[in-house]
Amino acid sequence: MEKEATSVRSRILQAEEALSRAFARIDDIEEQNTRRVLDAFRQARLAARHMSGTTGYGYGDEGRETLELVFAALFSAQKALVRPQFASGTHALATCLLGVLRPGQTLVCATGAPYDTLMDVIDGGEGSLADFGVRCKIVPLKNGRPDLDAICKAIDQTTAMVQIQRSCGYSMRPSLSIEDIGEIVKAVKSKNPDAAVMVDNCYGEFTDTREPCAVGADLCAGSLIKNPGGGIAPTGGYICGRADLVDKCACRLTAPGVGGEVGSYEAGYRLFFEGLFLAPHVTAQAVKGAMLFGQVFADMGFEVVPAPDAPRNDIIQAIKLGTPERLIAFCRAIQAASPVDAHVLPEPWDMPGYADQVIMAAGAFVQGASIELSADAPLREPYAVYVQGALTYAHAKYAARCAAQAMEAFK
Ligand SMILES: *Cc1c(COP(=O)(O)O)cnc(C)c1O
Repeated sequence: MEKEATSVRSRILQAEEALSRAFARIDDIEEQNTRRVLDAFRQARLAARHMSGTTGYGYGDEGRETLELVFAALFSAQKALVRPQFASGTHALATCLLGVLRPGQTLVCATGAPYDTLMDVIDGGEGSLADFGVRCKIVPLKNGRPDLDAICKAIDQTTAMVQIQRSCGYSMRPSLSIEDIGEIVKAVKSKNPDAAVMVDNCYGEFTDTREPCAVGADLCAGSLIKNPGGGIAPTGGYICGRADLVDKCACRLTAPGVGGEVGSYEAGYRLFFEGLFLAPHVTAQAVKGAMLFGQVFADMGFEVVPAPDAPRNDIIQAIKLGTPERLIAFCRAIQAASPVDAHVLPEPWDMPGYADQVIMAAGAFVQGASIELSADAPLREPYAVYVQGALTYAHAKYAARCAAQAMEAFK
């Protein structure tokens, strides 16, 4: 046992050495993004009074307005809607789809089937796009990459929106770079300049020094309990993009004719500003953590996506563990290494909306926050686990050690 522990420890040290150049790249991105955040704060003249909350309608809520100015600047957008009233990332993304698309129009999903929860928005529950007569075409990926020809073929004059998912989500495909997104935008606009490009930006924020609107995306949206909340935003979501489209989304979030002019939050906006300030650092910590998991498990002979030192466009590391037993042991090790609920033993369960059983490890301060360390996996071939987050690199490192140690039992 002692001997095994020593071998895991040296494995971690070796992995860190192998990653030193890649880590330096991440440090550089963090530094540039920190500067971008500070520039945006200075431009918006962020002041102490903006931390305070308001009540009721929230007319003239300066904290809310300043938060939205800052997001718009950081995301190279004309306008932003940044609200604690978004219950989740799915809610923000659904607001983009339901706010912009009209009956008779078509949505084209350009990067394969979108994230599970968005499938219900497209054609599932009450009030889905299908209910309102909006059709959807899904263009599959080709060898895990966007198929530009097929995307162009799918677009016609009824196409009002093209959806792109930046992160790999729960699939073993590479995530999209900002350059990849720019190429899709160019292809879409050449076929139908009126089609709006919307990017599901979840998990991608601050992994690069540019965001999707900088390369022509018309809208992007995500969750504040992922990267841009810096681990301390308590809830919420954001939409950034072209002013006319963001206004449409605001009318969907509140009411037609009311839009983004209302919305109070008595608890105040400090955690959103402070979270945004921390976001470049926390995202960098999570990315380095993902790389370390990738390197350690690749060295142990497991297939990992992306490759440990590959450029990162999200905070997810997929590891093919090969058997359900390893999957369960891995998730239990992550849970035991979590700050909250470490005493709890994760079990596979029949989660609503998923075809296979799913096992999840999460012991976060903010419920469900996956910028904090978490691991989840559907119990199906190839028995891949998806690891994401970590507020500190030291936590990711400790957890990687525990997970690697747990794999020793299967030797
Ligand atoms: C997390 C995530 C979502 C949905 O966000 P929730 O906050 O869980 O509703 C959508 N798309 C991607 C790629 C995500 O990672």
